Amino acid sequence: MTDTRDLDRRFVFHPFSMAQGHEQSGALMMAQSAEGCWITDDSGKRHLDSMAGLWCVNVGYGRERIADALADQARKLSYFHGFSSMATEPAAILAERVIAKAPDGFSKVFFGASGSDANDTQAKIVWYYNNARGLPNKKKIIARDRGYHGVTVLSGGLTGLPGLHAGFDLPLPMIRHVSAPHNIWTRNAEEDDAAFSARLAQELEDLILAEGPDTVAAFIAEPVMGAGGVIVPPEGYFAAMQAVLDRYDVLLIADEVICGFGRLGTWFGSERMGMKPDLMSVAKGITSGYAPLSGVLVGDKVWQVISGEGSAKYGAFGHGYTYTAHPVMAAAALANLDIVEEENLVERAGQMGDYLNDALAKAFADLPIVAETRGKGLMAAVEFARPTRDGWQKFDPGLQVAPRIVRAALQDGVISRALPNGDAVSFSPPFTVTAEEIDLVVSTVRKAAGAVCDALR
Ligand code: PLP
Repeated sequence: MTDTRDLDRRFVFHPFSMAQGHEQSGALMMAQSAEGCWITDDSGKRHLDSMAGLWCVNVGYGRERIADALADQARKLSYFHGFSSMATEPAAILAERVIAKAPDGFSKVFFGASGSDANDTQAKIVWYYNNARGLPNKKKIIARDRGYHGVTVLSGGLTGLPGLHAGFDLPLPMIRHVSAPHNIWTRNAEEDDAAFSARLAQELEDLILAEGPDTVAAFIAEPVMGAGGVIVPPEGYFAAMQAVLDRYDVLLIADEVICGFGRLGTWFGSERMGMKPDLMSVAKGITSGYAPLSGVLVGDKVWQVISGEGSAKYGAFGHGYTYTAHPVMAAAALANLDIVEEENLVERAGQMGDYLNDALAKAFADLPIVAETRGKGLMAAVEFARPTRDGWQKFDPGLQVAPRIVRAALQDGVISRALPNGDAVSFSPPFTVTAEEIDLVVSTVRKAAGAVCDALR
């Protein structure tokens, strides 16, 4: 029989993995099949996936309806493109449906195949918009420390995680970062939400003024940061940031790649977190990961300039991917959205999110190395740190506190995720997760964390 583990070890160049370590030791897990929230590996062992893959399998694994939609569309029209005013029906129907769900004021969807390419498209749209308006110097994009916006040459620099810059000569020179609204590492002890938000908005304003407002084009933010630590901003944060952006004619891009399509209990995270974006990026939840598809949602203000001054100045919009508006991917998205709507999964994500966040808060309250449990909707994290007389201190990264907890939980059949830049363990299950499954995730990770805590003494 073919030894697929050996093939993987020898031939697959793995993302976000130790190059040499993987080549020597091989895969931690070889997934073979999945149903609901459960993955079965090549030894027949079942794992409860509390991360919905990479924050994406919102309707759960093994949905026949999406598999059928993929197969039917592949048989009917396996591929056609959208260049030069060509079109396919599934992409047209999907675009209308996405715009109908979006907050007021959005006009168009530009499709791609990944969250990273969506954010690259965002940068190009923002630059094109300002070039078309006769503002060629207005090009800088401000992102946040710990933000995650992808890995391509542009989006990798927007991502505010040093591990994604090291060795790659990123970020590109037009990118700047401001602080993340992190309760433990950024908030001062005496600051309430209003004071914390006001200070972060002031930092943004100071940066825009220092750079020159005529050089700053856009600010990009996830409604709730995902991979950077599941960081929920304080009350009033986006209103305060937005007031600054409006003052200096700076566009707001909401990166909804995780939050979009229901994860926070609303169709878009912007609604729940009080953002009023000019542009939005979506991916993951649009197909629940069954097919690679992303979208840039373009607001009226930007669209009017693209279609008006932009067309007059530059002719055809010179951007697009072979897989832009792919009909098979669009068909998967339509079947996925049918499921989300018919099973009321957005509402369910909100309810199960409350259950998950309560369960984590209760289970981890007594563990001395827990600095915070936090989350919103079905995004949650537990942050581990060393308690000291002067407050929390990060563990030495060499101790691998969060990775050890995640590995121990995996041994016990639960998949969670250790996030970079500190020791947070995250959870982002399918919207179909049950209370019993959440209880199992929480108790398994709590046991793993207790054992690691004991070993640290
Ligand atoms: N934006 C956010 C908020 C993400 O979480 C991710 C991926 O996790 C991306 C962008 C990049 O998406 P992709 O991995 O599909 O390129």
